[in-house]
Amino acid sequence: MPEIFARSRSAGVRGWVLGGVHPGDWPDQQQLRLAYGASVLRCVGLHPWWVSHQTCSDIQLALEQFAELVPTADGIGEIGLDRCAHFHTPEAQQRQDFAIQGALELSRYAQKPIVLHVVRAHGAILQLLDRWGPFPQGGMVHGFSGSPETAREYLKRGFLISVGLGALKKGYGQLKKTIAILDEAEFLLETDSHEPADLVKVATAVGNLRKTTPEDVLRKSSLNLRRLFEI
Ligand SMILES: [Zn+2]
Repeated sequence: MPEIFARSRSAGVRGWVLGGVHPGDWPDQQQLRLAYGASVLRCVGLHPWWVSHQTCSDIQLALEQFAELVPTADGIGEIGLDRCAHFHTPEAQQRQDFAIQGALELSRYAQKPIVLHVVRAHGAILQLLDRWGPFPQGGMVHGFSGSPETAREYLKRGFLISVGLGALKKGYGQLKKTIAILDEAEFLLETDSHEPADLVKVATAVGNLRKTTPEDVLRKSSLNLRRLFEI
C-alpha cells in the first residue's frame, strides 16, 4: 500500500475513496485511515461478489456489523447487484437481493453517500432505490457504462455517474455518448484499481469526449466528489 499511495501521489492524486467489500476488510480500511488521515474516505460495504458466496445467515451477521459501523464511516458501499454470467445462478441472485435490501434499509437515515456497484441490473437497482429511498445524501454509480437515459434515471435520484477505464476502451458506445452529454456537476472520475495514477488516463479520455482538457474534468470531478462527501 505505501508504494501505491506514493505512486498515486506522484501522479497528483491526493485523496482516495475506499470501497468496502466485506467485514474482513473494514478493519484494514480503518488502518489506512489512521495511516493516511482524512484524505482516505472509508465506505463500509458488502460487495455483491462477496455476498454471492455467503450463506444468508453470514450475510445477516455482516449486516449487523455494517449497521454498527455505518455511523462512523464516510460513506456506504460498495453495495449493489452484479448479474454478470459468473453470478447468474438463482442462489447468487437471491443472496445479492437479500444483502442489498438489508443494506439499503439500514442506509435510509444514515445521511451518507452510497457507492453502487451495478452490472446488468440497472432496472432492478432503480426499483430498489425507489422502494427503500429516497436517499437525499445521494451517491455514485461507480464504473458506469450505461446509456444517457439510464444515467438520467440515477441523476434524478441524486446519484452521480462515476466513469472509469471504460472510457479508454474500444466499443463502450453508450458510455461515451453519456460522458459527452453529462452536465459538469453530474460526473466523477475513478480508476477502480490498484493503480490510482490511471486517473490521468481516464481524465484524458473523458476530456477528449467532452472536448475539454484533462485538467478541467479532473477539477470538476474533484468538486463534485467534495460536494457529495461534504468535504
Ligand atoms: Zn464495483
